[in-house]
Amino acid sequence: MLCEETKSSLSPYLDDELTLPARVAVETHLDRCPLCRSEVAALRSLTRGLNSLTRATPPADLAASISNSIMIEAAARLQSPQPSFGQRLSRFLEPRLMPYSVGWVASLILFFSMFTALRPHFVALHEAAAQNATVFVIPGGPNDIYQPVTSEDFAASRAPFAEQSPSLNPKGALALLTRSYAHPHPNEHQDSDDMIVVADVFSNGAASLAGVVHAPRNRRMLNEFEVALRQDAAFVPASLDRRPDTMRVVFTVQKVDVRERNF
Ligand SMILES: [Zn+2]
Repeated sequence: MLCEETKSSLSPYLDDELTLPARVAVETHLDRCPLCRSEVAALRSLTRGLNSLTRATPPADLAASISNSIMIEAAARLQSPQPSFGQRLSRFLEPRLMPYSVGWVASLILFFSMFTALRPHFVALHEAAAQNATVFVIPGGPNDIYQPVTSEDFAASRAPFAEQSPSLNPKGALALLTRSYAHPHPNEHQDSDDMIVVADVFSNGAASLAGVVHAPRNRRMLNEFEVALRQDAAFVPASLDRRPDTMRVVFTVQKVDVRERNF
């Protein structure tokens, strides 16, 4: 047995509360260890000293003086004026409402500081939205969806993107061709197909095929596309788009077969 274990067992050992094996183990250790022996001796003398103390006796008039003090206090309470209903109510509510009101004020302050901090962002967003809205207003023309689209209107509506990608001429051959893909006649352009081609677009709106990246399965689709490109004004003139005079663009044409059904 180690000193630590022995020391923790000393108090029950002296009180004779240990089991027999534990008691034997403690005694075996005590036989060998002078430190723990001296600890036992100190504890024994302490216990003996405590036992020899006489029981303290309270002063004879203690009970009388306590009841006197209580009577004086009670008399003083009776003579002091009663607190008003409002005072009692506030005394009752204060500890209960204080935490809530502090939390409430804190969240109010937090809300206003966040709102103030974000206000410039809101203003910026609002201005950006207003600017976007003005970009898409077609100048000079009413936004009547039943009116045919003119090249000028269409180019104006695409103003934010036209510098990078030329606007199709709504009346050009290419637009007609893509429309025929979108609404195929019963016997043509009905199978799904796709192609990726590169074309040069010139300032007058005409364009020419520069290369084929991915040829369509149906070669006729490519031929029709090339013919449509060469016909003049496949795109709006460069001046309407504010795009460079000549630019190279990549077309991805995807035909997806969506069969109509009557429900
Ligand atoms: Zn020891």
